Amino acid sequence: MTAGAGRFAPSPSGDLHVGNLRTAVLAWLFARSSGRGFLLRVEDLDPERSRTEAAQLRDLTALGLSWDAVPVRQSERTGYYLAAIDRLSEAGRVYECFCTRSEIADAPRAPHAPPGAYPGTCRNLTEEERARRRRDRPAALRLRADAEQYTVKDLLHGTFTGPVDDMVLLRNDGVPPYNLAVVIDDAAQGIDQVVRGGDLLTSAPRQAYLASLLGLPEVVYAHVPLVLNGAGQRLAKRDGAITLTALAGIGMDSDDVRNLILASLNLPPGTLENALDAFSPALLPRGPWVFDSPGSVLPGL
Ligand code: GLU
Repeated sequence: MTAGAGRFAPSPSGDLHVGNLRTAVLAWLFARSSGRGFLLRVEDLDPERSRTEAAQLRDLTALGLSWDAVPVRQSERTGYYLAAIDRLSEAGRVYECFCTRSEIADAPRAPHAPPGAYPGTCRNLTEEERARRRRDRPAALRLRADAEQYTVKDLLHGTFTGPVDDMVLLRNDGVPPYNLAVVIDDAAQGIDQVVRGGDLLTSAPRQAYLASLLGLPEVVYAHVPLVLNGAGQRLAKRDGAITLTALAGIGMDSDDVRNLILASLNLPPGTLENALDAFSPALLPRGPWVFDSPGSVLPGL
């Protein structure tokens, strides 16, 4: 077995739709075609939105995906996230932040600051100011970043440079954020290839920067095109039959859905193992896949 693994890491906040399923198939193909293992991680840090793990795993299995170990659940790994924050804290890399969302939105910021970047309000508070503000509001913890941008390698996008800022390391309700957990978990699971939806490309530099601060190995990314509806928007419930269950309801079984996904990748129908022979990252379509569901409730769009 070669070192390294790929993974799929869904948030169990709803049934997987064909876009998520296509990303999972791609993650599996990228991993297996490069001799890597393939692992699953359930990103269930938000307990309110974590109810569909079993259905997601069932659908992935129905599609023909297999993974090499019991799936890891983020909700069971809080101790590892806190330990990483402690290490950063010992290195002087953590500070308390008392800002509300609206304070962050309204704060003045440098003209070149990337949209949404933390404006640094709490970065240099004195001990007295911190003590005073702690009485009003529990603190979140932020990273004291010393870079404004970072570069990652992406198999589909080449090198990609994007903004890095003082990201949140612990929310003020004590929940670790995705951007921290993903870095710790990818390293802990031995993952060195991250294939996921293109919407996360702009998050990769801050994740890779954090990994570098923690002395964790680099990963190679492949941010794959999203799936859009006939109107060019991201798939949503209103698009009708977009989950395996809903598609089964209009007569498409999981083999049909897999074949549809494979066709969208210019790959032959059949099993995933069969598709592996024809799979080559260089031959992948680079644009979004438009999925006009046969069950769309917005005909003609
Ligand atoms: N859990 C994230 C999602 O479902 C994916 C995170 C990742 O692949 O890094 O969108």
